[in-house]
Amino acid sequence: MASHQQSAVSTEEQQATETAEPETALETARRQLERAAAHLEIDDSVLERLEHPAKVSEVSVPLERDDGEVEVFTGYRAQHDSVRGPYKGGLRYHPEVTRDECVGLSMWMTWKCAVMDLPFGGAKGGVVVNPKSLSDGEKERLTRRFTQEIRSVIGPTTDIPAPDMGTDPETMAWIMDAYSMQEGETIPGVVTGKPPVVGGSYGREEAPGRSVAIVTRETCDYYDYPLSDTTVAVQGFGSVGANAARLLEEWGATIVAVSDVNSAIYDADGIDVGAIPSHDEEPEAVTAYATETPDITRISNEALLELDVDVLVPAAVGNVLTADNAADVAADIVVEGANGPTTFAAAAILEERGVHVIPDILANAGGVTVSYFEWLQDINRRKWSLERVHEELESEMVGAWSAVRDEVESKNVTWRDAAYVVALSRVAEAHEMRGLWP
Ligand code: NAD
Repeated sequence: MASHQQSAVSTEEQQATETAEPETALETARRQLERAAAHLEIDDSVLERLEHPAKVSEVSVPLERDDGEVEVFTGYRAQHDSVRGPYKGGLRYHPEVTRDECVGLSMWMTWKCAVMDLPFGGAKGGVVVNPKSLSDGEKERLTRRFTQEIRSVIGPTTDIPAPDMGTDPETMAWIMDAYSMQEGETIPGVVTGKPPVVGGSYGREEAPGRSVAIVTRETCDYYDYPLSDTTVAVQGFGSVGANAARLLEEWGATIVAVSDVNSAIYDADGIDVGAIPSHDEEPEAVTAYATETPDITRISNEALLELDVDVLVPAAVGNVLTADNAADVAADIVVEGANGPTTFAAAAILEERGVHVIPDILANAGGVTVSYFEWLQDINRRKWSLERVHEELESEMVGAWSAVRDEVESKNVTWRDAAYVVALSRVAEAHEMRGLWP
């Protein structure tokens, strides 16, 4: 069997590619695939297949604006790999959505589902639109028409979208309704991230933050940092950051810094994170809290990333840890709450410096995991209690974290490489087992 293994000597061209920062989500995803493959014996043809999406649908979505004008938007659905089960991934409404971005993000979803051992493959999609430019009525009409345009490629056993940037539980309810109307029956399992009243799961919203907290707790325990003596800085006080911060505080950690897009605050004795609303409860509430609390020390978002803490949780946006600041990161452990907060070059610097970076595909995978629970509840027509969601998430996260730790130990690789190795080996084995049809 042909296999892909790292060549001992890289050509000059390869070396240049390896050190340059990848520019797109697709380049990053392909490079990460190659990196993980270097640690495994994988059939070349399987690797070749994984470098390409199975299918990308591009659709035109006509929308009648409130003033009666008709405008046509472009939508995409990229489906990367379904060897382990139906495609799964978010739908974003954003002016910078592109075909390649959808493909790259769909590859990430394949690895995220596989590292969690969920029976799903990866997908991603969206519409090229600024959601802030749409009235509620326009957003609903756009969503319903987009659903119709991609109806042939989505479904509860084929491809199950979820919320992402610019979309929310209400958007998912419209998709479910539009799909169900055309199919002639109520099919809640076609999307996840719905409001609980139409088949959504309790605990879905806070799940990515909860998984970040669980993974932080396990990693601190592994490296002998008792939570009661552990200091944490969290960048971004949104769904992910606020939920992670509150749970870690509840479990004994001291949250010494938090931030929103405008300001960051620091208190060596610990910030009462329960007193600050999260971004969805009240946008940019860290700034408001700082204004109301004149004694609190205000720092910049950049300084927050360089604080001398035990754990740093970047949970705001991508590409905040870069070649420019990675040498100044003073935390011993970085837990990636956001998607892609660490650039390739920064990851290399942090690895060199012995900083343990727990990757996004593991740390914030609580979201897709509770989406899986939601899908199970929908197809079984049986709702779970919040307690059950928490218990099952705890068990899935600890299981996935342990599988990654085993690879860290046995292969002596970074947590990121270990997570990709776990994911890729599961996907590749499934391909080898199923073979190529016809
Ligand atoms: P959110 O919109 O709820 O909150 C984002 C927070 O980050 C806000 O406090 C905002 O003020 C702050 N912020 C925005 N830009 C910033 C900047 N440039 N510098 C510092 N702070 C900034 O977002 P969220 O849902 O918590 O998502 C945060 C990250 O986590 C994103 O990368 C997202 O892709 C990722 N993520 C989210 C989920 C989810 O289901 N919510 C799941 C997995 C990953």
